[in-house]
Amino acid sequence: MTAPSLLDATMAALAAIAPVRRDEPISRHTTFGIGGPADLYTKATSAEQLRRIFVLARSRGLPVFVLGSGSNILVSDRGVRGLVIENDAKAVSGPFPQPSGAARFTVESGASFAGLARRLCREGFAGLEWATGIPGTLGGAVVYNAGAYGGQLADVLVTASIVDAHGTQAELTAVDLGLAYRSSAFTRGLLHDRLVLTTTIDLSPADAGGILATVAAHDAKRLAAQPRGRNAGSIFKNPPGHVAWQLIDAAGLRGARHGGAEISAKHTNFFSNTGQATAADVKALIDLAQARVREQFGIELQREVQLVGDFD
Ligand SMILES: Cc1cc2nc3c(=O)[nH]c(=O)nc-3n(C[C@H](O)[C@H](O)[C@H](O)COP(=O)(O)OP(=O)(O)OC[C@H]3O[C@@H](n4cnc5c(N)ncnc54)[C@H](O)[C@@H]3O)c2cc1C
Repeated sequence: MTAPSLLDATMAALAAIAPVRRDEPISRHTTFGIGGPADLYTKATSAEQLRRIFVLARSRGLPVFVLGSGSNILVSDRGVRGLVIENDAKAVSGPFPQPSGAARFTVESGASFAGLARRLCREGFAGLEWATGIPGTLGGAVVYNAGAYGGQLADVLVTASIVDAHGTQAELTAVDLGLAYRSSAFTRGLLHDRLVLTTTIDLSPADAGGILATVAAHDAKRLAAQPRGRNAGSIFKNPPGHVAWQLIDAAGLRGARHGGAEISAKHTNFFSNTGQATAADVKALIDLAQARVREQFGIELQREVQLVGDFD
């Protein structure tokens, strides 16, 4: 538990930068629609504000969790201790023509990845056709090296500007960030207590008609394959040489339920909140899928979705 006196003092100091709320239900801010209260909750509307809020809270010893679109997390029913910063920093600048012919854009980390991708495709910049259906922010995309249909952020990311708890900034390249299949130096714990403030990406000017035809084909595939409703996309990564949904399906779990949570009958690597699911319900299905796939196929499913808060 975070000391109430620390929360009160930090809340008062943060109020000079942005409005702060107590006990905000995180269920309002995740695509699952699940998650207990955050001790303190605020929203940053620029990268500079994000940096200032983060450094102030950390200088007082308060834990900080930065929330993008909440599209790849399962937040505990007990919520999140310390401060949650919703990242709504979404300024975009560019295109800046490069000697290579590339069009360079600088994007704040709270920008919607799908929204940015769709807009730049329409404007005739190729390179993000695969990203137009991926929910989440640019910051979240860096953390997971978001990807689909053969594309991944690493293909277009030039640098990300990272800040640590003392406010020190560094420009890291895609190589420095260790971007790999749905993982990065962040997911491996190597950039603990650091945030992505901005990203720089390189795209290629091209014919918008051709780009949009590719986008339409991806949209149609996604619509046909994925369930709608409240979920967090793929729960598990595909194990090397296997496809997670096929393993879960073969383990007999299509449509399995626990409380208000369900393994989607349409896509068995998507778990849905059918209305009143708790985090514990979803976690029970995660444990069940891992246990069944382990028993039947000897394969350990690794979560793609991150558990946030206390699940014990
Ligand atoms: C319907 C659906 C379809 C999806 N399809 C795909 C897909 O095709 N491909 C794919 O890769 N993913 C997919 N996802 C998963 C998800 O959209 C991505 O993982 C996305 O990149 C997560 O971004 P976010 O902003 O929502 O992160 P959040 O869920 O808000 O946060 C996830 C983690 O990233 C950290 N984080 C967020 N922003 C920052 C930052 N600025 N600095 C440091 N850490 C940060 C958070 O603290 C947290 O640890 C899908 C999800 C849904 C709901």
